[in-house]
Amino acid sequence: MTRLRAVVVGAGLGGLAAAIRLQAQGHDVTVVERRPRIGGRAYQIQEAGYTFDTGPSLITMPFLLDELFELAGASRARELPLRTLDPFYRIHWQDDPRTFDFSGSHGRMREQVARFSSSDAAHYDAFIAASRRIYEEAILGAGRRPFLRAVDFAGLVPTMLRLGAARSLASFVASHFDEPHVRQAFDFHSLFIGGDPYRVPAVYAALGYLQIAEGVWYADGGVYSLVRALGGLVERGGGRILTGESVTSIATRDGRVRHVGTASGLSLPADLVVSNADPLVTRRALLAPRDAREPLPWRVRRPSLTMSCYLLYLGTTRRYPQLQHHTLVVGSDYRGFIADVTRRRRISRDLSLYIHAPSRTEPAMAAPGGESLYVLLPVPNLASGDDWDVRGPELRDRVVDYLEHEFGLEHLGNSIAVEHAFTPAQFASELWAADGNAFGIEPVLTQSAYFRQPNRDRTVSGLYHVGAGTHPGGGIPGVLLTAEVTAGVIASDLRTGRLGRAAA
Ligand SMILES: Cc1cc2nc3c(=O)[nH]c(=O)nc-3n(C[C@H](O)[C@H](O)[C@H](O)COP(=O)(O)OP(=O)(O)OC[C@H]3O[C@@H](n4cnc5c(N)ncnc54)[C@H](O)[C@@H]3O)c2cc1C
Repeated sequence: MTRLRAVVVGAGLGGLAAAIRLQAQGHDVTVVERRPRIGGRAYQIQEAGYTFDTGPSLITMPFLLDELFELAGASRARELPLRTLDPFYRIHWQDDPRTFDFSGSHGRMREQVARFSSSDAAHYDAFIAASRRIYEEAILGAGRRPFLRAVDFAGLVPTMLRLGAARSLASFVASHFDEPHVRQAFDFHSLFIGGDPYRVPAVYAALGYLQIAEGVWYADGGVYSLVRALGGLVERGGGRILTGESVTSIATRDGRVRHVGTASGLSLPADLVVSNADPLVTRRALLAPRDAREPLPWRVRRPSLTMSCYLLYLGTTRRYPQLQHHTLVVGSDYRGFIADVTRRRRISRDLSLYIHAPSRTEPAMAAPGGESLYVLLPVPNLASGDDWDVRGPELRDRVVDYLEHEFGLEHLGNSIAVEHAFTPAQFASELWAADGNAFGIEPVLTQSAYFRQPNRDRTVSGLYHVGAGTHPGGGIPGVLLTAEVTAGVIASDLRTGRLGRAAA
């Protein structure tokens, strides 16, 4: 086996998973992360007894974690115990007093649907069967293999058509259900990865189905426990993680990678580089202009990026038992809200929010007698031109006022002991996300599989990509799968001689 020097740019979940897989293949791995700590979007803030996960909060498809731990010779169950939530979350609507408890119980889910429409409840089994087929063929099948050639994508098209997965997610859900709230309960899941349900393909029906089939899980200490565990596996496997170190260049000679340069002046020799950074930023800021030729579809049209998020982290001195661990609040103009934050690029007058309250499950996440809350409001990315120094404080007051006076979190404004916010401007400045996007390149059909940033770079030899920007895409399971696909391509490139040790 050839032992290569691998440099991973960025310690998001995708970068850490790639590092573990490359170590399992026997390579020397160095991970370089620009922030003071690892995790990327899955960061954590701790202050005065309150702990906030800053980004992902729902853990799904835990078997992907089991596989990763096994590869590193460890046991996920021993090192990262997970507990399932029941219900997974509760959905509230501003225009209807009924709520919907989303769970993994077939019977209870049918009952929830029946509270809104008995005829829709009669279609629930058919909807689940159609979603299962998409999950098995499009996610477990196509999500675990690379689409490096156009012909690979062409081969997928008949499957997509047969499954009805090429039309929009919203139209797929509407072909099964009529009642508007039921439709929303089953088509909003693509928003978790920044996908507009009216534009993403019905392949993303799998996101709701995989929760029902595989559960929604929580790790004590929050999602950051997962980050810590993966970082530990990298280090135990002999890898190096350098934090507070920005990669500023991926240097090439004769069209292949040689060195990775950092802001503090390090020059790390590399036989292969795996970039977990935003693919647009990797091309435009890290590669020299001669190497930065963009993939063909991007030369025709700049890739569209997902929306961003305004995030508010609140440590309260009161408890709010009316909150579930995960609570969704859907505004009265759901469709208009989505159009505003995606295509119209404006902060919506209508508010649709997600509230994370891990202290409902694990009280130690908050100071005694309080809650650790995070509120996520989808907003346009920086292409909207909003000045977040102005917009941030305005939105903060609107959100707190709404939660206190309309949603019913009594005295919230006077009960805040700790407060932090994260805006699209920080997605750009802290995470180096193009236009401050929250979820990467938009997951529409024309930017999926072959048309996404390929796992193996098409221009620079020895350069690979991992994370939400490449195939199959975003979300914790998505980026773990990008690492699996990319590591598989690297192993195959080594076997075929396409990849080897770079000459000194
Ligand atoms: C608010 C929010 C909520 C979410 N909720 C969920 C959820 O509940 N469940 C779920 O499954 N998914 C969720 N997601 C999606 C999920 O968090 C992401 O898809 C995933 O974490 C992205 O991982 P990644 O590997 O692409 O890397 P990222 O997390 O994007 O990390 C990339 C890393 O690269 C570093 N970097 C960039 N440029 C450089 C450079 N030049 N030099 C060195 N380092 C660099 C960055 O600092 C960063 O640490 C959520 C996302 C957000 C934003």
